[in-house]
Amino acid sequence: MALYADLDALRASAADVRIVTSDGQSIAAHSYVLASASPVLEKMIDRAWRGGGGGCTIRVLGVPSDAVLAFLHLLYASRVEEDVVAAHGPQLLALAHAYRVGWLKRAAEAAVAARLTPDRAADMLKLAGLLDAPRLRAACARLAAKDLAAVEASDGWRFARRHDPALEMELLQMVEDAARRRARWAKERASQEAYGQLADAMDSLDRIFASGDTAAEVPSSTSTTECEQGLRLLMRHFATCARRAAPGGCARCRRLLQLFRLHASVCDRPEHEHDQPCRVPLCSNFKARMQAEKADKTWRLLVKKVTRARAMAGLADRRVPEIVAMSWARYNSSSKWAKLR
Ligand SMILES: [Zn+2]
Ligand SMILES: [Zn+2]
Repeated sequence: MALYADLDALRASAADVRIVTSDGQSIAAHSYVLASASPVLEKMIDRAWRGGGGGCTIRVLGVPSDAVLAFLHLLYASRVEEDVVAAHGPQLLALAHAYRVGWLKRAAEAAVAARLTPDRAADMLKLAGLLDAPRLRAACARLAAKDLAAVEASDGWRFARRHDPALEMELLQMVEDAARRRARWAKERASQEAYGQLADAMDSLDRIFASGDTAAEVPSSTSTTECEQGLRLLMRHFATCARRAAPGGCARCRRLLQLFRLHASVCDRPEHEHDQPCRVPLCSNFKARMQAEKADKTWRLLVKKVTRARAMAGLADRRVPEIVAMSWARYNSSSKWAKLR
């Protein structure tokens, strides 16, 4: 086989070790190559020499001889050869783990993870546990979370169900963890959106009362945002609401008051600026109240998050200075990065 020509050539020189495989094949090799590549093989060779008997024979068992040949080929080459690693991924992962060849273990783990299919996920998860391969385990978890039905239909899963309940449990646990993570992300996204809307409302209040027109009048101008129009309608409702002072109050009015209070919490217009006082209703009242009594923790957190959402929105809207835009364009057009985009 051409692939192993270099190994064959080296073997033609003075080989001093005989490797015996599970299927009874005997492969000649060089002790200095094996010992320098693997501390485990080094010890095995040492022991074999000390044992006497006029030769050095070591057994590499548990995988077919073509995988042992590929393993030896890579040890002789002392570098990753993608096609060889891909052809014998799981076996090389096992050998590299057992004989402590770190670089080969990492390459084989990556190769197996990259070629993972639903029908092999259960078996490869088992292998990842046995061979201490966390990246392969993570790849199995991702695949099971993405396509549980296909993984469940595989022979490996069915075997695990019958004979390896711990493995089945582990897979189910990983799927559940992934689902819980997804739910948490969705919740975080939703709350970010809510803070974003509040930040929007704060900007709208600023705009409405900066322009000086009567807040409750919906202007004919088409430049107003949906949020701004909603606020104007809410304020018109507030002005005429009969239930505002009724027992239990009115939810819409309460909401508007909360928005005014939130505005006062984020309003940075100085308190006693005589020429241009803040025109947002109740701003100075709420500010006075805030000075008298400290707001509760939940409210302070809300204010912090809305402030951050406003700052983020401000950053996103800001025009990028030309010099930055130019260097960004240059950076992106260089071929090295272009393919990463
Ligand atoms: Zn009302
Ligand atoms: Zn204000």
